Amino acid sequence: MSTQSVAKPLSGRVAVVTGASSGIGEASAEHLAALGAKVVVLARRADRLSELVDRIEKDGGDALALSVDVTDAAAVQSAADRVATELGGADLLFNNAGVMLPAPVEERPIGQWQHQIELNITGLMNAIAAFTPQLVAAAAERGVADLINTSSIAAQNIYPNFAVYAGTKAYVTHLSRHLRAELGSKNVRVSAVEPGIVGTELQSHVTDEGALQWLAGAKEAMEWLTPEDVAQTIGFIATLPPRVNLQQLTIMPTGQAS
Ligand code: NDP
Repeated sequence: MSTQSVAKPLSGRVAVVTGASSGIGEASAEHLAALGAKVVVLARRADRLSELVDRIEKDGGDALALSVDVTDAAAVQSAADRVATELGGADLLFNNAGVMLPAPVEERPIGQWQHQIELNITGLMNAIAAFTPQLVAAAAERGVADLINTSSIAAQNIYPNFAVYAGTKAYVTHLSRHLRAELGSKNVRVSAVEPGIVGTELQSHVTDEGALQWLAGAKEAMEWLTPEDVAQTIGFIATLPPRVNLQQLTIMPTGQAS
């Protein structure tokens, strides 16, 4: 094996990252680019994506920014069409855009419920619909492709006031397990990554006072994961030998109990 292939194990691959303008997606796009993948970064904030592309290119990587709202199925399909035309299709989708808006169910924050369901479930499905044909085609041609979905420990655990968010993430994990069984025979690996608490912009969207207090206490009590910690994990999954599918992975801050 050449030094080049060890240093850049993802060279020749095309990775699409949703939710790439901040947090886990941004760090993962940078890491996948450093591992040699061409990265296509999707989110709504074009200015943030453009800064990210500049940084990646300055470090010798290759990146394309597509400003897309993933809840808009037609816009996601147009983005996928551009990836097919300009880069020959994606062989890795890091399906990561999401929002967390905890609140007591009795407050009936219906708009926040809809926002979480539309982004964490419908947005995730829009990306799966648009990019799965490319993943299957790439796997047939090159022997491997990856669909990595960002779930959460909320998919497994019980947290009062997080019912809707946790429900969307349980959907992501269960969907991923089914898709792995369906697509594995076509050499498409499917993984669900379930992080514990990671310091990102995710917490800044929370409006519920009780949840904000809980987060402030958790910040005092332990050292949170960084987006780069999760990015390393995404890189690890994608660089495993094609026969290895890391189906489900929990990554916790050492000090977080549950
Ligand atoms: P951030 O808020 O930092 O990132 C969320 C990303 O999603 C941003 O890039 C945002 O960009 C993008 N996004 C939001 N809405 C849309 C939209 N409609 N269309 C396209 N992109 C959108 O949070 P994280 O990095 O923490 O979150 C990433 C994932 O990790 C989420 O799925 C989250 O649920 C999950 N997660 C996070 C944990 C944590 O503790 N941080 C723990 C467990 C899971 P823009 O606003 O520019 O569109």
